[in-house]
Amino acid sequence: MRGLQRLSLCDWPGRSCCVIFLGGCNLRCPTCHNFELAWNMESQPLFARSKLLLFLAERKRWLNGVTVTGGEATCAPGLGELLYEIRKIGLPVKLDSNGMRPEILAEALDSGLAEHCAVDVKGPYALYPALSGDRVTAAEARRNLESVFAQAERRPGAFSFRLTRVPGLTGDDIETARGYLPAGHTLTLQTYRAPRRANAHADHEARRPVGNVVNG
Ligand code: SF4
Repeated sequence: MRGLQRLSLCDWPGRSCCVIFLGGCNLRCPTCHNFELAWNMESQPLFARSKLLLFLAERKRWLNGVTVTGGEATCAPGLGELLYEIRKIGLPVKLDSNGMRPEILAEALDSGLAEHCAVDVKGPYALYPALSGDRVTAAEARRNLESVFAQAERRPGAFSFRLTRVPGLTGDDIETARGYLPAGHTLTLQTYRAPRRANAHADHEARRPVGNVVNG
């Protein structure tokens, strides 16, 4: 893992949680707020898993959950093992994702390793090539997100969806994306913040990008 935010009151609505940052991502969104972590994780200091597990064991009385984010958490090697260790301590997990690996989300929920998945819907499927830095086609974006939406229909309460209003995205684009969601789900809009340039990790502790894409 590449960073830890020790306390967040807004990442998992209604819960006090900590946020674990994993490096790497399968997309190259030009608007990525955490691009160093997502695309060049070796530039970020490693945060020892043993140190994390000790922290969680000591703080579990004051935490209601753990958010695992990125980068793109579903791309991180050893994700299942990490989630298992967190669950063994007794804390529930929320996974943040860009939704492009729906099978990993299904596995995490089916196995009880994750309780909730927060998935980014970046915009209309047709805009995914531009929004993702040409890492997915419109057809791939549709297929992956439709798989996520089908899971959300089967598992009430297990998914939430958000969209970051990146430059160039119109109101009509947002309404198109909102229209993809299964019944009973809302699309939370997040304010865009320009990408950071400085290394956000100080003393091995990452600061969460306030209000920006949660870097699925
Ligand atoms: S999916 Fe998220 S972490 Fe990955 S490149 Fe896009 S904005 Fe960055």
